[in-house]
Amino acid sequence: MTSPRPIPFIPNLPSPKTSLPSPALPAITAFMPNAPHTYTARWVWTGPGGLVPGAAVTLQDGFITAVEAHPPRGTAVTDLGEGLLLPGLVNAHTHLELSGLAGLVPPNGDFVDWLEQMVAMRPDTLRVGGAEATAKAVAGLARDGTALVGDITNTGKAAADLAQAGVSAVSFYEALGAARAEPPQAMAQWRGTLLSAAAVAAHAPYSVPTERLAGLKARAGDLPFCMHLAESRAEVEFLAGNGPEGERLDRFLTKRGLRRQDLHLASSTPLGQLEAAKALDASTLLVHGVQLTSAEAKRIARAGASLCVCPRSNLGLTKAIAPVEELLAVGVNLALGTDSLASAPDLSLWAEMTALAQAKPNLAPEAILTMATQGGASALGQAGSFGVLAPGAAGPLAFAPLSELGQDEVIAAVVRGEHAGSPRSVGRVV
Ligand SMILES: [Zn+2]
Repeated sequence: MTSPRPIPFIPNLPSPKTSLPSPALPAITAFMPNAPHTYTARWVWTGPGGLVPGAAVTLQDGFITAVEAHPPRGTAVTDLGEGLLLPGLVNAHTHLELSGLAGLVPPNGDFVDWLEQMVAMRPDTLRVGGAEATAKAVAGLARDGTALVGDITNTGKAAADLAQAGVSAVSFYEALGAARAEPPQAMAQWRGTLLSAAAVAAHAPYSVPTERLAGLKARAGDLPFCMHLAESRAEVEFLAGNGPEGERLDRFLTKRGLRRQDLHLASSTPLGQLEAAKALDASTLLVHGVQLTSAEAKRIARAGASLCVCPRSNLGLTKAIAPVEELLAVGVNLALGTDSLASAPDLSLWAEMTALAQAKPNLAPEAILTMATQGGASALGQAGSFGVLAPGAAGPLAFAPLSELGQDEVIAAVVRGEHAGSPRSVGRVV
């Protein structure tokens, strides 16, 4: 009797030894140079510590040229009224090409069960409605004030939608499981106000062999290198080689042609694997970190790496969330992401901020706003270009309408989702 053929992790990936498709260059219809335009609002948040009433932000050709106390003379001005004007949001972790799975695999707190269902459903479902769902999801990001995304991809298919909608992206081409397809070389390109970067990701410590992990990190170049890490109890137990959840993950992986012995594990912990592969440094972007220990938080801080937290996905899939206060206290740069529509109800980073504020009520609201802007920009290697209101940074900006509030109430109201209307993009170049 022959043994059953392993079921690939991602059955629609290119065959072994091929490369993942090179990123499609964004087809931008025409980049129209536009005249300087100034935006002001009752409140303007330029970045941490910078809440200013009535400040004026001037954009030209999609980039910020000035941030001043009052609108300059002779420039067209739009006063947005009551509310907070802030940098465009940075959603540092999504999987846009999985948007067709929205609502089909409801998280139930059992990570391995969700993985089983998602992988079984993925190829057929996405073949039918995947492209349309992705385009719709990207259009939503463009409307709601998201300026930049960190998007994980196995196909490169969302790149055209992002370019068309005018949403900048660092697209992480992900090496995963038994599929040997290699990500393209990392590269970043600006087309007008739009950043389009191809970067490298390794899926997770339980699905990429140690030596390959080291090779992928080397391939990542100057752009960030991304990996899911310490997302679930199952992952931690699998690497430690004990525990019922680890055994379930082991069975799931074996069924898909990924045998534990082929990983050549060099450590018994997720972070240890990354360190053994020399893949933890200042350009590493870890995602989730739900199971991180205090000692590991300090090692991440020492390496200067970033961590992206996805509160709603983490709570849904594992009923837990990373030790955010502790990570901030030891100096880890934190970003915020929604994760995919397979595990999150929508791609709204506003809603993600609210979920984090509810899960961590002692966290300062401004720390959450910083994660959703400057923290994400730094994590994606774009500090100064996104996530702040300062000359030279790219648009669009974001605006959250609010009722009349005092200075000490504004940021908390935005983070808690107490908006007086739908938050939106401001100054997007079409
Ligand atoms: Zn992910």
